[in-house]
Order: sequence, then C-alpha cells, then structure tokens
Amino acid sequence: MQERARAVCYVFAWSALLLNGACKDTAKSAVPAAKPVTQAAAAPPAPVAAPAARPAPAPEASVLHTIGDGETLWDIARSYGITMKDLMAANGLGTRDIRRLHKGSQIKVPGVKEVVDVETSSDRAAQRQALPPLTDGAYHILHHGESLWTLARLYDVPIEALMQRNGLSEDSPAPVREGEPLIIPGIKQSQVKQSKEGKRDGVMHEVSRGETVWDLAHSFQVSVAEIMTANAMTAEEVVRIHDGQKIFLPGVEDDGRGHVQRKESAQQRRAQAVARRLGLGTLEAAGLLLHGLVEPRWIKAAGEEKTLAGTLRWPVAQGIYVRGFGSGQGGYHKAMDIMGKMGWNVRASAGGIVGYSGNKVSGFGNMIMVVHSGGWVTLYAHNSVNFVAAGERVSKGGVLAEVGSTGRSQGPHVHFELIFDGKNCDPAPLFKGGVHYHKGKLLRGSQVVWRDPRKRPASVICARRQKHPLGQTVDAENPDKDAQHVSDADVVDAPANASPDP
Ligand SMILES: [Zn+2]
Repeated sequence: MQERARAVCYVFAWSALLLNGACKDTAKSAVPAAKPVTQAAAAPPAPVAAPAARPAPAPEASVLHTIGDGETLWDIARSYGITMKDLMAANGLGTRDIRRLHKGSQIKVPGVKEVVDVETSSDRAAQRQALPPLTDGAYHILHHGESLWTLARLYDVPIEALMQRNGLSEDSPAPVREGEPLIIPGIKQSQVKQSKEGKRDGVMHEVSRGETVWDLAHSFQVSVAEIMTANAMTAEEVVRIHDGQKIFLPGVEDDGRGHVQRKESAQQRRAQAVARRLGLGTLEAAGLLLHGLVEPRWIKAAGEEKTLAGTLRWPVAQGIYVRGFGSGQGGYHKAMDIMGKMGWNVRASAGGIVGYSGNKVSGFGNMIMVVHSGGWVTLYAHNSVNFVAAGERVSKGGVLAEVGSTGRSQGPHVHFELIFDGKNCDPAPLFKGGVHYHKGKLLRGSQVVWRDPRKRPASVICARRQKHPLGQTVDAENPDKDAQHVSDADVVDAPANASPDP
C-alpha cells in the first residue's frame, strides 16, 4: 500500500497539488489508512452520470468508490491522493456534473488498488473541536495545495507572523502538512476563509535553458522557499532543474496577454501610497540614502525615538561573517558580507521604514534600504527576492528578503551596510552577541552600545563610501573566496553564556 502510494505520489508530484512533505510520508498525509478491500479492483468502470463527452484514459488500476455520507469529490480526491482533474477525467465528468453526484453513487478512482476511508469536512471539523480555544487568532486547516505563503496572502498576514505564532522554525521551508491546523493570528474563527477547492493560485512555468530557481524567484518575485514548497522540491532538486521541466509558480497571475506577474498584497498597495507621498522608493531616493542624505520627513516616518535599542540584530540568523569594513582592494569595501544559503531569510537589523526596495542600483542586485530613527540607514544587497516594498514599516527582525546572489555577486550572501550622516560605518561592534562566524565562533572585537539617535559613539568607525578601484560600487563578491581571508587569529570562541540574537 505504501509502495503504491509512493508511486502515485511520484507520478503526480509535478502536476498534482502537493503540499511540502506530502510525498515524504504518503501513508500518513496523502493517503489515509486503508480499510480492507470491499470492492473488486478489476471491476469494469461504471461511472456515474457520465456524459461521456471525453473518453476517459485507461489507467492500469482503479477501484470503485461508493460515495458516503457528506463526501465531496474533493474529499475523495484528497483522501486517495489524486487530483480532482484526474478523478473527473477518469469518470468523464465536467464541472456541471459534480452536483449530480450523491450518496451511494459509484465513482472510479484511477491509479489505486484499494478503497480507503474518505475524510469529510465534518471529520475535519471534529478534529478542530479537539483543538484548544484561541483568543488571539483562529485555526485554519490546511487544504491540498495550501502553504504558509498561500495563507499569508489569503489573510494578508505577514508570513513571519504566521511562523512566529505557530512556532515554526525559520530559514527552511515550513514543515506544514495538509489536514493540519495552522493558527492565523488576529482573526476570529468566523473569519476563516475557504480557499477554492482544488484550485491553486499561480501559473505553471516551463524552465528554459540555463534558467535557475533563483532566476524564477527573481523574475516573478516569488520566494525560493515558496517555490520549493509548492513543487515539493528538496534543496538538491533545486540546483538540478533542467530545461523543459514544469515548475509551479505560486501567487503569480497571468493577465491573459502573456504577461505574468506577482499579485500585489493589500499591504504592498498601502505601502506604495505611503512611498509616493514621501518620495521614497525611487532611484533618486536610493541615491540620497546611499550617501546618508536622509530627508527629515523620512526620519519622522521611520519613528522618532528618544533612545535607540543600542544594538543591531544579526541580519541572517545562521549567516556567517565573510569580510568586513575596509576590506577589499584599497580598503574600499565599507560594508560587511554575510554568507548564507538559498532560501534563508534576511531580517531587519532594526525597526524603521523601507526607503528603497528594488534592483535599479547597479551592482547591488535586489537591494533594500531601511531608514531608522535618527536618520541612520541599513542596506541589504544581492537578495534573491525582496519581500518588502518602499513605504512599508518593518520591525527589528522582520523578514525583508531572501538571501541570494543577484547583482555583482558570485555566491549567496548579504552585502550589509550601515550608513549615517553622509558616511558608511562599521557595524561590527554594534551586533548584539557579536559577529557570527563558523562553528560557534565570533569575530574578535569590542561591543558598543548606541543610544543617542542623533550622535554616533566615537568608537564606531565611519568613512565616506568609496568606489571599487575598477570604478564599480560593488565588486564581484565571492563569499567562498573572500571568507578565506579570515584567519584563526581573527576569531574567538563564543562565551558559553552567550545568548545569540536569533
Ligand atoms: Zn560586500
């Protein structure tokens, strides 16, 4: 049974609407426990209400399922781990025929050998009853084809808030499964929405020659982790995609004229209005921010605090230090490079307002600049995809983007800059818990606390932005190669009682 389920799973992995992990444990998630065979597998097909408009394909195996109380076609497809499309095709059913199905009708289920119990919506409701009551949100039971990202869009909730409330770990595609409850913060149970049965929001894309998952993420503004989840891909499969392969791009819409683009969320539309009003998000604004020239109205929008948090958050939770301020030819690199992996999150080092999010500044690839209280700015470059738009407010630790290698870059990393009062500053002493290096080590150096938003501590070194000796703003940064310049003398063991800023 499990063998068969796995085979079915394999066959449908690309076309069917599988959730992440559905194929890894098919016996549990895709096909519920089988009950004894009650009907002959070899019985000739006797489809219900078949208009026979389209000839049904001839699968090598099938069973006849008798529709039980409260079972919908969707429940049946889901319980057998096949798609609605295949189920309908096998019975020659059109969308209008579905309502003619009733309790006791027999339906042919292709590609399976045993009749199974079908889980209905009332079964799922019963499971819901057993969940502890909530005061800060409501349960949404994950359906076929739904993921964290689908729900983030459906409820217009930041993905970060969903992960946090459900205690999911970051920096990996979330291990959520069909049929499992997920807490949607900030809504009532009556506001739980039903996503359309069997319909996934997105488009199927055929990979062209040389195209990578990063290219797709970048062109369609979809997160790599989201693409992985929607296509049940492992990290190994991501690097092995080939031309002609079909990849589902979730949340992307086709306008019917061949133009495909990411759907905008309500949050993004609101941010755009703010950005227009403040003059943020433009290439001109980016130019000013890069040089620490921050308009008073931007500082006001960032939130005027009397005292600062004092430290910065390390922007990539598992990221490691590659090279720092004043490195590179002639010491031009007034930034820090932090190596990460594809799909890892890039987080705001402090709260503020997004001043720029785009790829129009040469060399930086997908880049984000955040304006903070007091007028200081942090910059995050080479992202595979940016999640926030100019005008959006972000909190400290809020997810901004996904680590990537866009722009002049030769490997996944974040080029991080701290800009204040017309100069670039060395962020190293400001990271809470220190600068992370390999194997629990930290970069050697002192820690500084920065409280006054308008003044920088004397021990934080700042200098004017320099161009690369070859005239570029950013060199072709290769994190693997650059990391080799860090010697054992540069790092120390992290103290045992260190509380790393996650
Ligand atoms: Zn750099």
